[in-house]
Amino acid sequence: MKITRIFAHRVDLPLHEVTYKWSGGKSVTVFDSTIVGVETDSGFIGYGEVCPLGPFYLPAYAKGVRAGLRELGPHLLGEDPRQLGKLNRTMDAALIGHPYVKSGVDIACWDILGQATGLPVCELLGGRYGEDVHLYRAISQESPEHMAAKVAGYRAEGYRRFQLKVGGDPDVDIARIKAVAAELQPGDRLVADANTGWVQHEAIRIAKAVQDVDVYIEQPCRTYEECLAVRRQIPHPFVLDENIDDLGILLRAKADLAMDVVNLKISKLGGLTKIKQARDLCVSMGIGMTLEDSWGGDIATAAIAHLAHSTPTELLFSTTDFNSYVTVSTADGAPQRVNSRMAAPRAPGLGVRPKLDVLGPREVVVE
Ligand code: MG
Repeated sequence: MKITRIFAHRVDLPLHEVTYKWSGGKSVTVFDSTIVGVETDSGFIGYGEVCPLGPFYLPAYAKGVRAGLRELGPHLLGEDPRQLGKLNRTMDAALIGHPYVKSGVDIACWDILGQATGLPVCELLGGRYGEDVHLYRAISQESPEHMAAKVAGYRAEGYRRFQLKVGGDPDVDIARIKAVAAELQPGDRLVADANTGWVQHEAIRIAKAVQDVDVYIEQPCRTYEECLAVRRQIPHPFVLDENIDDLGILLRAKADLAMDVVNLKISKLGGLTKIKQARDLCVSMGIGMTLEDSWGGDIATAAIAHLAHSTPTELLFSTTDFNSYVTVSTADGAPQRVNSRMAAPRAPGLGVRPKLDVLGPREVVVE
């Protein structure tokens, strides 16, 4: 089987909550997402999705996905999309770095492998664990009272895991964590994600001010070393995210005992092939995981669901259904949240069918 064409559609994804805000005053109102299609000489077409969280979260931006595909695409024509290890080596040889550009192509090729073998991607990634997986809800940065009310509302919808966007003024962040914690019940899980927004001494101060609160602290500071210094001085379970973008730093963080849970995102690692490698290492090392992506719609959510559902339950801390945050549905067959849980589709491949009328014209074609 050979790749004969690669194309991409841009699609805008507005939010039900209008704006999503996180550390340092950063926000997004409409997400610019790229749906990547890979066509073959056998009639199979696979789809992937890449949606950066604006240009100021990871070293990634939406127009860069499409520019990168124009650069990468010609090297992939004629390659077998089912030979994913080889395909990833070809991508890495043709374009150094830029993992998010490669992510959509890699996801689309897993979709083709699933269609060609008649198996859901979830089963190809290791097997389906249980009936469904836990979802967390990200709580956009607002006043402490507003965030507490949001958590109460989402709790009433069935969510039991909440990720607060902190990383703002330290004293307001202390109030945010305390106000939200007061809404929780036994069995709930609370994460305070600073998204690199605290400086080291303030992070330690904030954690000590909430030392009696049952809360995980996620990515308090910009660098790995600052986070490690904080981690060593506070009692809370600790999550690393932005700094963990390849296997080298993941292994170092394990050796340093730098985290209890790691947040792995498909496009941050460079696709399902590479995140599977990191996920499987974490399973072997006993590290809990939040498995997700930076953002996206139905196709990204399907890829996330297959990855999360193929992960041993006790090590899957949480995952996300981004398609429930956005107002536009881009594919049929995508996972739908039921009581704050979702399941990977059972149809072959990703199990989604893109709505081409919603996607609009192709912005990139390599053939
Ligand atoms: Mg995070």
